[in-house]
Amino acid sequence: MSSVHYQRVALIGLGLIGSSLAHVIRRERLSDVITGYAKSAETRATAKRIGLADEIHDSAAAAVRDADLVILCTPVGAYGKVAEETGPHLKRGATVSDVGSVKGAVVRDVAPHLGKDVHFIPGHPVAGTEQSGPESGFAELFTNRWCILTPLPGADAAAVARLEKFWRACGSNVETMSPSHHDMVLAITSHLPHLIAYNIVATAADIEDVTNSEVIKFSAGGFRDFTRIAASDPTMWRDVFLNNKEAVLETLGRFSEDLSVLQRAIRWGDGDTLFNLFSRAREVRRGIIAAGQETAAPDFGRQPGKK
Ligand code: NAP
Repeated sequence: MSSVHYQRVALIGLGLIGSSLAHVIRRERLSDVITGYAKSAETRATAKRIGLADEIHDSAAAAVRDADLVILCTPVGAYGKVAEETGPHLKRGATVSDVGSVKGAVVRDVAPHLGKDVHFIPGHPVAGTEQSGPESGFAELFTNRWCILTPLPGADAAAVARLEKFWRACGSNVETMSPSHHDMVLAITSHLPHLIAYNIVATAADIEDVTNSEVIKFSAGGFRDFTRIAASDPTMWRDVFLNNKEAVLETLGRFSEDLSVLQRAIRWGDGDTLFNLFSRAREVRRGIIAAGQETAAPDFGRQPGKK
């Protein structure tokens, strides 16, 4: 049996990411037993009905018992409470990881509740869709996507290597960085785009001279793409912005300055500035396609419902 195999994996939170992990763990036989916990009885009943895990528990503490890998998959605002509840019930030598979209706040909220005999290795699969809930997951979600691990100084090298192997078996590429660097990178590549999408959709809904039905009827590709991003789970994204405040405000400041440059160029008819900036932006997209993180298909290469 390869060292990537865990005997019991506990998934705390059974939404898009938790259920996708359950599917890929099954498919790749990465664990003998999968246990799961979700907050509501409704999600737990759905998870049981579709056979998401071998055991569905109605407390996080019961779900983590004897697990050698525990992955927190709830919105990050819930992590502190989940860690407090589960901390005393963790198996000695277990690895505790997570999938949260921010990392500094996760370390702050989770680490104090874990014993010294537990390996805490925060993680973030940079993979997702705008769907949520236990029925939205699919095993291929992590294929060829990056998973970022942010082990703390002094982390057990063997536990980190094993978790890295686990994510590679899920189909991901893996990179390691510090929590603060992660939060800065993701602020610009993920958090700010979501903020802009939420804002532009709200602005369109509030413009007095254009009715909501006109916005829907004449929605062009650009606006439709923003609405897809803005359809993401409100709880998850509220928690992301509350927990990555500094990096988001820093990138938002830079963004606002750059937007003013565009505003000025439009006002003064400065076509060169607009053309040069748009050309540079096009190169970034070409780079993403060349790196295999997107296709050049006109529909952005997405299958329906997938990012
Ligand atoms: P989701 O589909 O909304 O699922 C969240 C799960 O957490 C549900 O099972 C929910 O239970 C449970 N939960 C919610 N609040 C809880 C609480 N207070 N205590 C215990 N459990 C709670 O969310 P998701 O998209 O899978 O996101 C989960 C995590 O993955 C987040 O930390 C997010 O930052 C990260 N992430 C998301 C994406 C993405 O694109 N969606 C990508 C990468 C990482 P109920 O259903 O019973 O409410």
